[in-house]
Amino acid sequence: MRHGRVSQQPDIIISGGAVITMESATGIIEDGYVGISGSYITDVGEGPAPDENHSSVQVIDAQGMIVLPGFVNTHHHLWQTILRGQGADLAVGDWVNACVSKYGPKFLPEDSYVSSLLGLAEGIDSGITTVVNWAHNSNSREHVEASLRAMRESGVRGIYAFGARILSEGLHEMPYDVIDYALEHFFGEGDEMLIPWLAPPEPGFKCAEDFMFAVRFARERGLRLSIHLLESQDEIAAAPIQLLQKLKVLGPELLIAHAVHVNKHDIELLSATSTPIAHCPVANMRLASGIAPLRDMLARGITVGLGTDGVASNDSGDMLAVMKSALGLARATQLDPRALLPEDALYLATMGGARALGMDDVIGSICVGKKADLIIIDPSGLNFAPLNDCVAQLVLSGAPSNVDTVIADGHILKHQGRLQLPNVDALVRKSQRCADRIIRNKK
Ligand SMILES: [Zn+2]
Repeated sequence: MRHGRVSQQPDIIISGGAVITMESATGIIEDGYVGISGSYITDVGEGPAPDENHSSVQVIDAQGMIVLPGFVNTHHHLWQTILRGQGADLAVGDWVNACVSKYGPKFLPEDSYVSSLLGLAEGIDSGITTVVNWAHNSNSREHVEASLRAMRESGVRGIYAFGARILSEGLHEMPYDVIDYALEHFFGEGDEMLIPWLAPPEPGFKCAEDFMFAVRFARERGLRLSIHLLESQDEIAAAPIQLLQKLKVLGPELLIAHAVHVNKHDIELLSATSTPIAHCPVANMRLASGIAPLRDMLARGITVGLGTDGVASNDSGDMLAVMKSALGLARATQLDPRALLPEDALYLATMGGARALGMDDVIGSICVGKKADLIIIDPSGLNFAPLNDCVAQLVLSGAPSNVDTVIADGHILKHQGRLQLPNVDALVRKSQRCADRIIRNKK
């Protein structure tokens, strides 16, 4: 039985396997196939694919495997990847000073490139096909160009959220000159692989006037916004959600990362204004920030996606681990095993993320007409076998080693467990040299 098809010869057919579509009408197709033509999904159905024997089609055998939409990582700082493991005994405020502000000014454009590509490679390895790169080391045109080059080379769908220039400890300022230059030279009209956003410091971190300048700058250029908010208890006194409401900034075009310390009133405001949240449970645990009230936010209909956050505060780019942590923390805080079900966690990592980015008509599920962003999970690993419940095991047992294939925009980025990026070993060696120079002052 076919669930949808456009009359186009596919380039790639994923054949066999359980297809978790994340579409309520289709659900899980136990023995399905997916056809891909160019960058789009052009066929989804049950049983053998009709074009499978055509000589020009690349058939990926997914028999016995699990096919699902690629993960949408709604919050990351790719430039921080080479700072992995730093400030491991610090809470968020001290960690920002000891990592972001201390090392940020020492980054050369090449460091941004290497660090970003390393983070992207790690993300692909765990099945991430879309990432929001909250880039607060947009220190110069060259830094931005280097980070964008890494994003384009990786093949991952990306949002580059221009953040502050990091000058020295505690001094972060928005590089509006660099941003306008980059918007003109590095982004294309209608490009769905690389999309610019703005990521200003939150109000309170700097004054509301600076923040509102950023909001106007973004609106004049048609950019969405993402900010950190209420990651730390120290922010509670400033009541920033209420301030944002007064400033008329809350809404679907503002993605708030963390929202750990929101109260009932804040949740009502977020719900009433359809403001989405990037939930980063692993980083919130690591930096002793607290536990965001995920169950309460979902109960009020707030759109939530998952984020790894930067690798310097996670300390990995593994979305499978983020899903499991989101589920675990929701259950532990509610003392309720149904506080977050595996299918809920998987929704957050796929469709929830796509909705949080305003891209749910483009990505987040497997259906005809959406972009071909898909992953295939091989359940034969020691940590996963035997296969009893594909969704529960994905969330509770899954690891990057189970990700057999990753496809973004119709391009294969990982296949048979191997990243298709060239020179990954050399990239790892380069990242060590960058980290040695930046962290340990080695020449
Ligand atoms: Zn962050």
